[in-house]
Amino acid sequence: MNGNKFKRVLLKLSGEALMGEDAYGINRATIIRMTEEIAEVAKMGIELSIVIGGGNIFRGVAPGAQGMDRATADYMGMMATVMNALALQDALKNHGVVARVQSALNIDQVVEPYIRPKALRYLEEKKVVIFAAGTGNPFFTTDTAAALRGAEMGVEIVLKATKVDGIYSADPNKDPTATRYSRISFDEAISRRLEVMDATAFALCRDQKLPIMVFSINKPGALKRAICGEDEGTLVHV
Ligand code: UDP
Repeated sequence: MNGNKFKRVLLKLSGEALMGEDAYGINRATIIRMTEEIAEVAKMGIELSIVIGGGNIFRGVAPGAQGMDRATADYMGMMATVMNALALQDALKNHGVVARVQSALNIDQVVEPYIRPKALRYLEEKKVVIFAAGTGNPFFTTDTAAALRGAEMGVEIVLKATKVDGIYSADPNKDPTATRYSRISFDEAISRRLEVMDATAFALCRDQKLPIMVFSINKPGALKRAICGEDEGTLVHV
């Protein structure tokens, strides 16, 4: 038992979160800082699964992919997430945290495939599980993979790390009167047309009554505070 609000969570990290100030790829100082935060919560006994994006390496709908067959570009995007997952696993190991990567696409020599019961066992053993290759299907996103794997793992909450510290009533960069919601219901987010996750991911979480917490990955300690149930980011609830 741990005294935290949540015991089993899924963290959605975008590929861009690993980029730091760089234009693309993985910034070493950034991944080290991020894994320090992840390692801290893993060592608290939280059952932690992670879905990592690939936008820092390849995005299926990006200009670089223009003219390409969409499905082909999406498979490239999914493979990019495998690279990020391996980098994250390696960085966590350097912080004394055991992590296992499971991929929705079979790349047998490199990572094990996604096997739900095995992933659940890893979580029970307090190993961090990193889900790579999104849903394994083109035309989807890693946000949707986060909602899907979160539901499959029976997590209590999906923690969506973003560049801003929550959901605002308006764009805080454009409107100085914009205020942060500390809590908002799924229905209210829809009626106010607030973007929380992509529409498929949002609908899946809503159907499964799986709350989402939007918080800033750039704010030191925010991940831990969100897991401890402190007023951090925005909680999207049923
Ligand atoms: N992708 C996909 N199916 C999935 C997940 C991802 O085809 O289930 C592809 C898609 O091309 C996407 C890319 O992988 O653009 C990277 O994922 P995403 O954009 O979600 O990464 P993030 O923005 O979180 O870094």
